Amino acid sequence: MANEECAHCGTLITEWSTVAKRDGKTFCCPNCANAYARSQQAPDEVPGARS
Ligand SMILES: [Zn+2]
Repeated sequence: MANEECAHCGTLITEWSTVAKRDGKTFCCPNCANAYARSQQAPDEVPGARS
């Protein structure tokens, strides 16, 4: 499988023991998965993160 990048912070995932998956996306750690989920639910909490 190809290397994957965190869908939140873009870090190349080389350590899979901490990987978290949510909504079909891959995150380097649960912190990023939670941050991503929060930004989806409450965009106002993350100024400048909206695209
Ligand atoms: Zn990350």
